[in-house]
Amino acid sequence: MDFFEQMEARIPVGGVRTRFAPSPTGYMHIGNLRTALYTWLIARSNGGTFILRIEDTDQGRYVEGAVDVIYNTMSRCGLTHDEGPDVGGPVGPYIQSERRDLYGKYAELLVRRGGAYHCFCQKQDEEPAEGKAIVKHVCACPSLSEAEVRARIDAGEPYVIRQRIPQEGSTTFHDASFGDITVDNSELEDQILLKSDGLPTYNFANVIDDHLMGITHVVRGSEYLSSAPKYNLLYEAFGWDIPTYVHCSPVMRDAQHKMSKRHGDPSFEDLIAQGFLTEAVINYVALLGWSPRGELSEREFFTLDELAEVFDIGGISKSPAVFDIVKLRWMNAEYIKKLDPEAFYAMAEPWLRQAISNPAIDLRAVSTLIQPRCEILSEIPEKVDFLQALPEYDPAMYVHKKSKTNLENSLASLEAAVPMLEAQEDWSNDALYAALSELAQNLGVKNSVVLWPVRVAVSGRQSTPGGATDLCALLGKEEALSRLRSGIELLRSL
Ligand code: GLU
Repeated sequence: MDFFEQMEARIPVGGVRTRFAPSPTGYMHIGNLRTALYTWLIARSNGGTFILRIEDTDQGRYVEGAVDVIYNTMSRCGLTHDEGPDVGGPVGPYIQSERRDLYGKYAELLVRRGGAYHCFCQKQDEEPAEGKAIVKHVCACPSLSEAEVRARIDAGEPYVIRQRIPQEGSTTFHDASFGDITVDNSELEDQILLKSDGLPTYNFANVIDDHLMGITHVVRGSEYLSSAPKYNLLYEAFGWDIPTYVHCSPVMRDAQHKMSKRHGDPSFEDLIAQGFLTEAVINYVALLGWSPRGELSEREFFTLDELAEVFDIGGISKSPAVFDIVKLRWMNAEYIKKLDPEAFYAMAEPWLRQAISNPAIDLRAVSTLIQPRCEILSEIPEKVDFLQALPEYDPAMYVHKKSKTNLENSLASLEAAVPMLEAQEDWSNDALYAALSELAQNLGVKNSVVLWPVRVAVSGRQSTPGGATDLCALLGKEEALSRLRSGIELLRSL
């Protein structure tokens, strides 16, 4: 068996094999996370194999520690891989920079098969500006004789290897979400496959790797749609089977703009740092461009395992999906509500401690109060910081139409409440609520005429997690009474 036959013999046959092939950029775009998720789901929902491949051929973009970010993100999200740089597998190495020698060999093979040629033109191709048509490279190198090529290589002339695109005809390929796409070959350029330093371009490496790793479904962003015909021509020139393509539409910030980290849109890591739950993000991202069909079509909540059961390629949409942070916050709040209180406390505690250092305040009790009212964890400190220290507040807060309070009746309520509470022994929420309700009855006013001013006086806020007596119980008798007395002073000073 020659080298190429040996490589062929390694390729696993039968069964679905998918790969996520991130470049180590140091963070995970939402669009990339979605690609990873769909790729994983296609493997899992078909009982297949999921592979992680690191695409680090672009050394200019190398970011220290970025590969660890990929591992951490994948494992945090539960997107476990069956083959990859860390776990090995039959078709490794799984890091492109470690496969360097392979690409050169396959480029030479392609030249021999007529699908590529050596190009000695010194002038580098210009990168087409965004939105501009491809700048086609035209030169005489495709027609150089084998002997001429040999002589120039032997003389040490630098060269690149370019794809030989047929001049005539068209290339058609099928995409699982976009359908059949046909492109005239005349629109395709003889792209560089191997650079003069011997390193492959992404456009070449991905085809070699996907074939040699036995990938059956290539899932990637739709920005690669226009390259797919060139990849097809490469597969054909090698005589290889073409995988199923699944191109995913872009994730948009709004109707016009793609999400972009450079323009301040959050990456997955940013969302986690803001206190979104991984499970909520995964659930939300799954529905960003895929929808369940049939009887599940209205369903919004899915665990990763449930997704793995119901996911189907046919549910992937080709229309761009708009990332809606308000919807994600809502979904996150639903996930938070469903958490076991202990689990929520474990997540909330660092955020609570950011705002509250007073050891007299029972953080578990605060946690119980905020759990049903919390969209993201990072909003916890600002929701609870009044417990640590009473903020300065505007006395106008005492005036509340719905509670039927004004400055006068608020002062009267606080003046009646303080001596009564000074004598109160049971400082639990229930006992305090009963005592203040009784006071309202004795004063001949609605409960709210007592409870509203107490709430304002102890919190300096109009909206708080928990009501007046929850807050008094949390603060403890001494602190609550001191805040109520300050409220009286404030109202008297007007
Ligand atoms: N390394 C490419 C990227 O991160 C992967 C594209 C692909 O999946 O083929 O965009």
